[in-house]
Amino acid sequence: MRRGRAAVENLQILIIGGGIGGLTSAIALHRDGHTVTVIERDPTWSVYGVGIIQQSNVLRAAQSLGILEGYLAAGVGFDAVEIFMPSGQKIARVPGHAVAPGLPTNLGIGRPALHKLLGDTAIGLGAEVRLGITAAAIDDSSDAVAVTFSDGSSGTWDLVIAADGVYSTTRAQVLPDAEKPEFTGQAVWRYNFPRPADLDALQVYNGRTGVGLVPISETLMYMYVTTPEPDNPRYPTEGLAALMRDKLAGTAPAIQALAEQIHR
Ligand SMILES: Cc1cc2nc3c(=O)[nH]c(=O)nc-3n(C[C@H](O)[C@H](O)[C@H](O)COP(=O)(O)OP(=O)(O)OC[C@H]3O[C@@H](n4cnc5c(N)ncnc54)[C@H](O)[C@@H]3O)c2cc1C
Repeated sequence: MRRGRAAVENLQILIIGGGIGGLTSAIALHRDGHTVTVIERDPTWSVYGVGIIQQSNVLRAAQSLGILEGYLAAGVGFDAVEIFMPSGQKIARVPGHAVAPGLPTNLGIGRPALHKLLGDTAIGLGAEVRLGITAAAIDDSSDAVAVTFSDGSSGTWDLVIAADGVYSTTRAQVLPDAEKPEFTGQAVWRYNFPRPADLDALQVYNGRTGVGLVPISETLMYMYVTTPEPDNPRYPTEGLAALMRDKLAGTAPAIQALAEQIHR
């Protein structure tokens, strides 16, 4: 949403959502000389403690934001994907191809480490981050976008960016007829383990249950497990570890050995 001033320098910009999209936008816009406020619904501004794979196009974007060094230091680069049969037999090691010289083809990084890097950078550059509030009302019918927040405060901005995730309530507010996301029927289970010293690739185990092992630091890796869950169940927290172990029945011996370590 953009209203008002023709000049594009030093805009007052509101970003709704303090996730990857919102924070990278905040960093880029601050570097371009704009004044940015980020609002984040979660008062604790927390993320799940597993990891994320960032391909080299993401690293190239991080380079252009001036945060590549922090990215590389907070994660671990790897340049291959290894493919395994359900039996555990390795059938391929596929080298990656970096989109720019000097970058690893992939980087595994813990989500908390990435969140800290992006949050610290955005705040360090001067972005204001307001936690525990949402945009209750957005009016872009005049020269500026007027926003009333859930805590009763309000303000006007030249530009408002909705970065509040796939289930964006801002999109629903502004574009009520827009398409809505649909659940595909697939779920993913994830668990962190100590990283074996020789794990230098993303390891992918094919089969009815898809499993992957991803290095995310010198000492940590995570396992992801994809399962069909067409009814989109909400399992109680109590018993999730046992359920994840059950989902891994019939997988390769190396994966079952890890499954035995899944507790809590
Ligand atoms: C299980 C899983 C694994 C994934 N693995 C990978 C991977 O390996 N590599 C990869 O590149 N991508 C991966 N992704 C995708 C990646 O996580 C998303 O693309 C990314 O998180 C999108 O960032 P975002 O900022 O748009 O949204 P989000 O990360 O959802 O952030 C939205 C933020 O907005 C806040 N918010 C929500 N509503 C409001 C509101 N009304 N007002 C204010 N704040 C609000 C939320 O609390 C949150 O902080 C994965 C996703 C999932 C679910």
